[in-house]
Amino acid sequence: MKRLKSKLLSMETNTATYTEMYEGALAYLDPTRPNMPPIPDYNPIYYNGNVGFEITGSHKLAQDKPTVTVIIPHELLIWGTEGVMPLKRLKYYLHNMENDTVTYSEMYDGKRETVFPSTAWDGHCLEPEIENDPIYYHEDVSFSIELTHKLAKDKPTLTWNIPTERLGINTYTTAAADFCLREFKRQIDLLNDELYNRSRPDNENGKYYIHAPGGEVLKRNTAYFAICPQRDYEYASGSRVYMLPSDRMPPPTVCLCIRLQVQLPRRKLRRSIQMLCRDLPDAVDRFIGEFDHAGLCRALELAEKQSAIRRWLKSSDYCAFVANGSILPRSKGTDLPLENAVPFKSTAEDEIEVCGVRGMGVKKGVTVITGGGYSGKSTLLDAIAAGIYDHVYGDGRELCITDSTAVTVSAEDGRSVKHVNISPFIKWLPGGDTSDFSTQHASGSTSQAANIMEAVDFGAKLLLIDEDRSATNFMIRDKMMKELIEKEPITPFTDRVCELHASRGVSTILVIGGSGEYLSVADKVYMMEDYRVTDVTAKAKGICASYGVFGEAVPGANWNQKRILCSEHFSSYPHGSGSEKLTVSDLGFILIGDEVIDVRGLHDIVTPRQLDTLGFMLRYLEVTNKESLIDIEKKIDEMYLKIEKEGLDFLYSAFFTTCERFLDLPRKAEIMAVINRMRMIKIIRKEELA
Ligand code: ADP
Ligand code: MG
Repeated sequence: MKRLKSKLLSMETNTATYTEMYEGALAYLDPTRPNMPPIPDYNPIYYNGNVGFEITGSHKLAQDKPTVTVIIPHELLIWGTEGVMPLKRLKYYLHNMENDTVTYSEMYDGKRETVFPSTAWDGHCLEPEIENDPIYYHEDVSFSIELTHKLAKDKPTLTWNIPTERLGINTYTTAAADFCLREFKRQIDLLNDELYNRSRPDNENGKYYIHAPGGEVLKRNTAYFAICPQRDYEYASGSRVYMLPSDRMPPPTVCLCIRLQVQLPRRKLRRSIQMLCRDLPDAVDRFIGEFDHAGLCRALELAEKQSAIRRWLKSSDYCAFVANGSILPRSKGTDLPLENAVPFKSTAEDEIEVCGVRGMGVKKGVTVITGGGYSGKSTLLDAIAAGIYDHVYGDGRELCITDSTAVTVSAEDGRSVKHVNISPFIKWLPGGDTSDFSTQHASGSTSQAANIMEAVDFGAKLLLIDEDRSATNFMIRDKMMKELIEKEPITPFTDRVCELHASRGVSTILVIGGSGEYLSVADKVYMMEDYRVTDVTAKAKGICASYGVFGEAVPGANWNQKRILCSEHFSSYPHGSGSEKLTVSDLGFILIGDEVIDVRGLHDIVTPRQLDTLGFMLRYLEVTNKESLIDIEKKIDEMYLKIEKEGLDFLYSAFFTTCERFLDLPRKAEIMAVINRMRMIKIIRKEELA
């Protein structure tokens, strides 16, 4: 109240009019023109800090009884003046919004006026700068706010940056990030429980959305480590900040980055402010305060063990390992372990110890899992298939580790096939050369043949096949049928499965309930009975001998593929359209450009978020391609290198309003398999180039 005080003190002690107080005369200097005389003005509002006191006359007979209007900034009432004002700028933007805002644009822009220290640049004074900086600081933790996409302005994406020092983390692996995401999710679930109101929709009630991972440990764009800047300014009033002098600038810090979305409740700005500026920061503080270090250590130890077993698998003559005590079946409709399940126990013959873990080693070659109906055969195969990824502690399958190139193969009627050599399995077909086979609508057997040929061509060293999901005529043809039908184009899988291993190094694990033919070609036969596995190889071989059934030798096949992808129709732009199209459907379709790609037959896509990622990956490959003939494997390798370096969020684009914001990384084999199912693209044979 310096100005008011000086006015009062300079008055006559017997003043009756208090004129100077009512007038509030002042003179201010224009800082940009220091040589000009002060400019006179009048302003009877006097400030005590941020609080203003406006003095006006009550009426002419009461000049000694002024009316005082106290002006208190709204945010001061709610947040007080103490401390460093966490999230001060965000609060400022939000408080100045209309209650019924639908754009929340100030929050996304984060427009700030930066005032530089007087000697910021070479001893010169810099002009203040206006810039957009939608990163908001809550003490040393911060989050950025970005638009999810244009139809979800009330559902921003927030990325929290939490210095790893605060959490005591110094291992920056996928497993560590995965553990943090799950821990963070617990706090968010609690917030949602508090908010939940079943009579109101989320966009009226508000909701926090966080990635809900299954049992797999995957690289994600929702939890990762990165080096992030720290707050390099002090708050002034409103959106104005003072840049720190360079010697006080904090260095960037390694942070845990966690991404989530917040559905802001419609026309409830106060509630939105509470969610963003109070409840969520409180939850983050609790996450930090209650961080489970012991749990993290356990997760990291498990990850170490998993990677040691994987390394061992690569150099051994085994293709899969299932630890004793694993819980293989899943509880109905979930990804959680079945309660009271029979734990897995290796057969005595195949029990080995790897990295201190005892369990069953499945040797390379041809392995058959057989047994009666409902005995747990598919459950074992599915667990082996799941072993291409690591799983979290408590999943039940965390020590089921499988060759990570393994592919689950089934029949897939109706898929598109382009210029695939399926001649090892299909000798001829009306209307064509099966070493260069194309169709828009493959049959059960031709689709399964193409699936195997493509998988092997891309480097799969293990095929997982369940008889229930296979084409019978592809799988077997018994002696009597061979005798009856002489003109048969199909070479059944029984005749090739050993050759695949011998000549291509590709092992196969099959679940077989009904076709005894496989007993004769298998290197190993396991039997499931009441969810328990036994080794029945010797018995099976004995039976084959007594029936005089032996694997039949057929001439060796040509396994080569000579395909090249062309740029024609490899595009996210529908024909004749200037705007891209990408939609990913939960039902198992990727719609991109003019394509509707059916990926329901790809069993190794294990989370819905991998499907979204595959959509974005395909789009990335398409929009970045500049070649007319595409070396697609090289392009995929380059994309994965970029993901390794930068994380996978560069794939996301807010342009596509139906795609999810949260992404899980799939394997290279899956993006290749998606491309193999496209219908419009052009593929040519290498020899056509000559
Ligand atoms: P199959 O393929 O031999 O017909 P499944 O693998 O489909 O059999 O298993 C049949 C049922 O038994 C499934 O409901 C599965 O959840 C359950 N199951 C499988 N393994 C176990 C186990 N180890 N303990 C308890 N239940 C199991
Ligand atoms: Mg089954």
